[in-house]
Amino acid sequence: MFFDFVKSKSVPIFNRHKKITIRLAMYDNLSYWEKKNFFHADVIIVGSGIVGLNAAIAIKTLAPKTTVLLLERGFLPSGASTKNAGFACFGSISELIEQEKISGTDGLHALISKRWKGLLKLRNLLGDAQISYQNNGGFELFRPEQASLSEKCVAKISHFNALIEDIVLQKNVYVQADEKIDVFGLKGIAALIECKLEAQIDPGMMMKALLAKASSLGVQILNNCNVEELKVESNGVYLKTNQGAFTCKKILLTTNAFVNELLPELEVVPGRGQVVVTKPIPNLKLKGTFHYDKGYYYFRNIDDRVLLGGARNLNMKAEETTAFGETELVQEALHTLLKEVILPETNFEIEHKWSGIMAFGPKLTPIVEEVQPHIFCAVRCNGMGIAIGSQTGQEAGEMVFKSLNA
Ligand SMILES: Cc1cc2nc3c(=O)[nH]c(=O)nc-3n(C[C@H](O)[C@H](O)[C@H](O)COP(=O)(O)OP(=O)(O)OC[C@H]3O[C@@H](n4cnc5c(N)ncnc54)[C@H](O)[C@@H]3O)c2cc1C
Repeated sequence: MFFDFVKSKSVPIFNRHKKITIRLAMYDNLSYWEKKNFFHADVIIVGSGIVGLNAAIAIKTLAPKTTVLLLERGFLPSGASTKNAGFACFGSISELIEQEKISGTDGLHALISKRWKGLLKLRNLLGDAQISYQNNGGFELFRPEQASLSEKCVAKISHFNALIEDIVLQKNVYVQADEKIDVFGLKGIAALIECKLEAQIDPGMMMKALLAKASSLGVQILNNCNVEELKVESNGVYLKTNQGAFTCKKILLTTNAFVNELLPELEVVPGRGQVVVTKPIPNLKLKGTFHYDKGYYYFRNIDDRVLLGGARNLNMKAEETTAFGETELVQEALHTLLKEVILPETNFEIEHKWSGIMAFGPKLTPIVEEVQPHIFCAVRCNGMGIAIGSQTGQEAGEMVFKSLNA
């Protein structure tokens, strides 16, 4: 019996003199109704980030009668989707140069197309107001000591403008914008390249809207449910969780950087991103999304504050972790950048700090595949989940839907 798979954790207590309350594990006290209605679905999706939610929405849109259950281990979705910086971006010039080396020009064109279409898809699905989409432009900045990188990037502007023209249907999207260095109050910056189509969103609003959309389509979402083991049997997949055993016909893992806990063979390397947000700053000049040091640092305005994240490159090995947390090295580097470059003439205090975990790999494309019979995955958005998360989720949803009907 599968229920043997999930061993009881309750401890019998015996005492003749006292009235004893035995606290049963929740799953030892489930009613017939609970077991019958909550612990089985046609499809179980593990992980309620942007990818999992979009996959659930796609399946329910294609097949409204298919039962879809989303299991999430956090009280809130606790991966990257609620902890990111909210850049609706498709690549700064220095990132595109690096990515062209890996993917080739045609491959990069396909990647940018996917990112741009992914952003349009997200906006169409939820609406700009629901995600607080604001096109304030994106800017890549270079310090004087980065002159050779800056020159290399400036020289590539026309190449990348030509490459993306048929995707975004606009000319001259990337332009030199050195005159804006003073407008934004930046110090110690020698050059600025603007991407006119880069925007910013509120990732919390995006996730609330996605959760509401999925629920409205009948997707059941259960939180505080950590999937610990999977087992494929002839009649379906069994999942052991901290809340009991679940069964389904197909399972889709959208656990991103944490996927190796269940599927160790997948090529996914975690990358922790540490983020800080200042207290409100009167007359803040900064407006837009900003990339520095090949994208290893990123900052933006949000509600009269500055959000800044990054510096993972200072100790890549230490940040290749799925553990949330802060390090002195990174926090100091973020503080220094705020003080010297972003807010040089302003007193500021950091009010919020957090970390989130991204998923990287040798290829820039996500892994969307059936990894074992009945077990699917859609993971590794390579730090660009706002742009490609919706499309990745939809592709995964369609793949699972097809296999249900095969
Ligand atoms: C600091 C930071 C800044 C970023 N900035 C940007 C940005 O500006 N623009 C951009 O496009 N992208 C950005 N990203 C990347 C983007 O957030 C991710 O690519 C995207 O959110 C990934 O979505 P996902 O659904 O694949 O995974 P996640 O959002 O990570 O979701 C995975 C979910 O699975 C759950 N889970 C894991 N294991 C289990 C289990 N065993 N059982 C149950 N549940 C489980 C987790 O709790 C989590 O909620 C950033 C990421 C970080 C960390």
